[in-house]
Amino acid sequence: MPTIVPYTYEKKEEKPLFFTSLVKGMKILVATEKPFAKKAVGGIREILTEAGYEVALLEKYTDRPQLLDAVSDADAVIIRSDKITAEVMAAAPNLKIVVRAGAGYDNVDIAEAKRRGIVVMNTPGQNSNAVAELALCMMIYMSRNQFTPGTGSEIQGKTLAIHAYGNVGRLVGRKGHAMGMKVIAYDPFISDAQVFAADGVEKVDSVEELYSRADFLSLHIPATPQTVKSIGYDLLKSMPKGATLVNTARKEVIDEEGLVRALTEREDLKYITDIAPDAAAELSEKFGKRFFATPKKMGAETAEANINAGLAAARQIVDYFVNGNTKFQVNK
Ligand code: NAD
Repeated sequence: MPTIVPYTYEKKEEKPLFFTSLVKGMKILVATEKPFAKKAVGGIREILTEAGYEVALLEKYTDRPQLLDAVSDADAVIIRSDKITAEVMAAAPNLKIVVRAGAGYDNVDIAEAKRRGIVVMNTPGQNSNAVAELALCMMIYMSRNQFTPGTGSEIQGKTLAIHAYGNVGRLVGRKGHAMGMKVIAYDPFISDAQVFAADGVEKVDSVEELYSRADFLSLHIPATPQTVKSIGYDLLKSMPKGATLVNTARKEVIDEEGLVRALTEREDLKYITDIAPDAAAELSEKFGKRFFATPKKMGAETAEANINAGLAAARQIVDYFVNGNTKFQVNK
């Protein structure tokens, strides 16, 4: 078996089984337009079949009706970036739980799920290392002129500013620190300064300060109604000379008009992203080597992250059905 970040749960034998009467014949659908690595699928199947469930696999589906058909008799669904909308839930009368194997869950209509009594979970932290490694790699890629000939620069000694100090942000902070960067971070939801200090990271108290000091700004905020389009002209314009914005979070958090304006006015600014912007063609044409987008989101695309997140999703489903564990529920 591959090494995985341990997800632990205890079977409490004395406790009555949560959904005992439902376990037999329950169907768990793995619906992934972009499939898991084969090893991950094997591990998911093993966990679920050992627990007594039937497993169905829908991979690389190309149209909506395929998904609607596959969910029609599913009790639980494991997804990746697949969209679980009100329409999908309406087509799934038995659905009790959706687990997004990954961190962001903006692809699931969680309000509709709550209305229908469907539990939605994510698997926080399971793919964070993969994303953090990519963020560091992106900084170096831009510092070395996208690997084209010419003199580049080093990241050691530069200020790495981390916007949101969650699972990914922390790993980026630690790795940046280990590479000799001066690391600062902003996260208004973490009041304990020790969380930052333990990683050798300086906590800053405003987003304005964070951007104004960033040689590299690594973005790790989730896409929420509060954060959508929140990174725009004013913040970008305030960044130091030669600064690079690194986005491994979500495209929706960027105000693209503001981004184009800032890159136009400031010929020293750079933008690299793992999530192609809507204005990707315009950005490529106007800003050449100051802009780069990965061809397809690849932050979590490592075998290790696939396996960690996929197996955690399967275990969380078993733990929910057997013990009623809702620790990772995001729509309570
Ligand atoms: P996380 O939930 O562990 O951390 C998110 C952090 O954001 C939390 O610490 C929270 O306090 C903070 N936050 C929330 N709103 C904020 C705000 N308005 N201002 C500042 N901080 C705020 O999530 P994570 O695992 O670190 O992932 C971060 C984001 O990265 C995810 O939301 C997801 O969108 C994205 N992601 C992308 C990939 C990829 O393939 N590129 C993979 C995993 C995650």
